[in-house]
Amino acid sequence: MDSAARRRYSRQILFAGIGEEGQEALLGSHAAIVGCGALGSFQAAALARAGVGRITIIDRDYVEPSNLHRQWLFDEHDAAEGMPKAAAAERRIARLNSAITVRGVIADLTAANIAEVLAGAAVILDGTDNFDTRYLINDFAVSRGIPWIYGAAVGSYGLTMPVIPGCTACLRCVYPEPPSGAQPTCDTAGVIGPIVSLIASLQVADSLKILSGRAELVRPRITTADVWEGGIREVEGPARDPECPTCARREFPFLEEPARAPAVLCGRNAVQIHERSRMVDLGELRARLEKLGEVRANEFVLRFLVERFEITVFADGRAIVKGTNDVGLARSLYARYVG
Ligand SMILES: [Zn+2]
Repeated sequence: MDSAARRRYSRQILFAGIGEEGQEALLGSHAAIVGCGALGSFQAAALARAGVGRITIIDRDYVEPSNLHRQWLFDEHDAAEGMPKAAAAERRIARLNSAITVRGVIADLTAANIAEVLAGAAVILDGTDNFDTRYLINDFAVSRGIPWIYGAAVGSYGLTMPVIPGCTACLRCVYPEPPSGAQPTCDTAGVIGPIVSLIASLQVADSLKILSGRAELVRPRITTADVWEGGIREVEGPARDPECPTCARREFPFLEEPARAPAVLCGRNAVQIHERSRMVDLGELRARLEKLGEVRANEFVLRFLVERFEITVFADGRAIVKGTNDVGLARSLYARYVG
């Protein structure tokens, strides 16, 4: 560490938990952030300011005005330009800390690219908005022995759980299968900034312990919080499932995902989403979406018009997103409105 770095990080070095040795470790470390929305943009800025030497950010979406109340890295200019979030984040991070290396990857994280995109990361932070990607991260992280920090927020509620392979429960120990049916999302139920900052801060704190060489200080727990109506609760040491398909039996089906990847429907300017099949209650979905755009539905299919897209959802969870050939964008719209 040179004298400029020693000055820059002096208050962090003074903190006994990190010290000079911990700061050196941070400067030499690599963190990956999956999803650069509200959680991810807070995580990225915090890790960059703390001096994490290498940060990889992957995101499939672009900045919109409706992001700005909670996605701290982005500004009106990014939204006006419709900047890809990964690119806008990379540009902004370079101004926050020019001494570190940041790589923005504009892509949907899939089984096909996860090994390349997350290569070399010592911790993976969850900034995603959907369970498909979380189960993919869990399979990848457990198979490679890389810690990852689950995090989610919607409305005023959020939760986080660190997963340290070999030490703590993994995502599938706690939630053996992805939730069935439509889930509330920030695009249907709304979200406020404080819950995002709180959850992201907890994720960053555990990441700093791991990256500074003090992973043993990460307590196995699930933290839930509601910043509007409730408080903060911790469930200590969620148990590892001795039959867990991922961390006990070491089966990694989500890494085989290419067979189930979404498909561009040639000549129709549309993408078909056929992720894991799951039943969707179309009546319930209709009630949620009617506030947001035009909806037509019967018992077999629901059609939702929003912006320039038409999203057709079938009762088995399959959907066709019309108005784009971009698979990442179609998956993003599906995650936002169907959950
Ligand atoms: Zn497990």
